[in-house]
Amino acid sequence: MLAVGYGLADDWREQTICVVRLTSERACGTQSVLMSRSVVLASTQRCDHCRFAPRWCICAGFQAITCPLEVDVLIHHRELMRPTSTGRLINRVVPASRRHLFRRETPPGREMIVRPDRTLWILHPRGEPLPVAEPPSGVQVLLLDASWPEAARMTQTVAPWGRLVRLPMIGPSRYRLREQTLTGNYATIEALLFLLAALGLTKEEAQLRLQFELHVYAGLRARGNKLAAAEYLATSPVREAFPDLLQDFERRRPDG
Ligand SMILES: [Zn+2]
Repeated sequence: MLAVGYGLADDWREQTICVVRLTSERACGTQSVLMSRSVVLASTQRCDHCRFAPRWCICAGFQAITCPLEVDVLIHHRELMRPTSTGRLINRVVPASRRHLFRRETPPGREMIVRPDRTLWILHPRGEPLPVAEPPSGVQVLLLDASWPEAARMTQTVAPWGRLVRLPMIGPSRYRLREQTLTGNYATIEALLFLLAALGLTKEEAQLRLQFELHVYAGLRARGNKLAAAEYLATSPVREAFPDLLQDFERRRPDG
């Protein structure tokens, strides 16, 4: 549920592609190795804001989101380095949200995260059902952005700070940038989407979904996965929400 389990595969695959390319071209001589490295370096140029290559920059569709919930993301230090992290996406599209770094050796203290004027909910599949009496303006939600084993350790640290809360989460995940090894796994930002929906914050849920699905679509295009991107778009609100940006994708030059 909590950004779980399928994070490493894509990053490793990206790195593996580079390593394989270098290794195979080394056999052909030094020049090939240098050329290959320049390709790798060129491919890492990214927009400062959305972190996509300029070819797939989605900043023209950016919309900042405000919501009555206080949103905090506790991100494992390994997750911070994964380009597929959706915790970072939350912090980008919900500017009032906060991010806290988790390291096992030096975990953040309670006083750094917990707001005294709010009830802290920690989303967790083994938590209690969603409390119905709490207004969103009285809630601070803590999202754990990590793989499952990492999230388990993080939960041990933060569980005493608030209420573990379980969300009704059904349907297939709409996140397609990480391999899902288990059904019922969702990205961290999808947990927030489920929470907004459960609290009746439909406007905020729709706005966040647009930003999330635009991110997924651009991610698929950036990987050259055109067929999967087209299939994704066919059932996404992105298609109607950002027609100009989608047209612009087709016009942009491959090198920039
Ligand atoms: Zn951008």
